[in-house]
Amino acid sequence: MDTSALFKLSYGLYVVGVKTETGLGGCIVDAVGQVAAGDSPLASLACMKKNYTNECIKKTSECTLSVLSTDVDPFVIGNFGFQSGRDVEKWVNAPHTIKDGLPFLNNACAYLRLRVVNALEFPTHTLFICEVADAENGENPAKPLIYGDYQATMKAAVGEAFQKFKEAGKPSQDCAAANAVGGAKWRCPLCGYVYDGDIPFERLPDTWKCPLCGVGKESFKSV
Ligand code: FE
Repeated sequence: MDTSALFKLSYGLYVVGVKTETGLGGCIVDAVGQVAAGDSPLASLACMKKNYTNECIKKTSECTLSVLSTDVDPFVIGNFGFQSGRDVEKWVNAPHTIKDGLPFLNNACAYLRLRVVNALEFPTHTLFICEVADAENGENPAKPLIYGDYQATMKAAVGEAFQKFKEAGKPSQDCAAANAVGGAKWRCPLCGYVYDGDIPFERLPDTWKCPLCGVGKESFKSV
């Protein structure tokens, strides 16, 4: 059997967004399909069982899908695909918008909000069947990225971009620039430390603490 034949199934690449117990999580998936159309559209989403995102979808019964475009920053795919939400807060590295508590990747082709109505367990994956609770076209006019094209033309760039991120400890230039939009300063009420990081203060995880005295993020005051 030549499993590369499966790359010719023309599904895309998507960033899934979920709520976790302490913040936001997500991962890259490819096996997404439409199950029913009409007034009550349904979608299927297969997610690896070992992924933290899978656990979060089961707990919350909801997630978002951001449809990646052909011009997506390769770092975004590495960020969501090559590390675990158990270890890192992936969304702080990627420009995003939070709607009703769930994250969407900025500059995607399209956005879906999904509510799980059924789930089937397989040895490696859970197949979630979901109601499409909301759907919108994105601001990005580029075509959706097809999984086979990713395999053929983008995979090496994604590996390189992620390697650079691991070495530099910060996101790609494009993501860092998009993340930096906004940027009021925030001060620790106890020790006076002023946060001056690349990631806007609002996007730091709720578990973030003052690096000098350990005061929680929620106590910081905007200056
Ligand atoms: Fe402090």
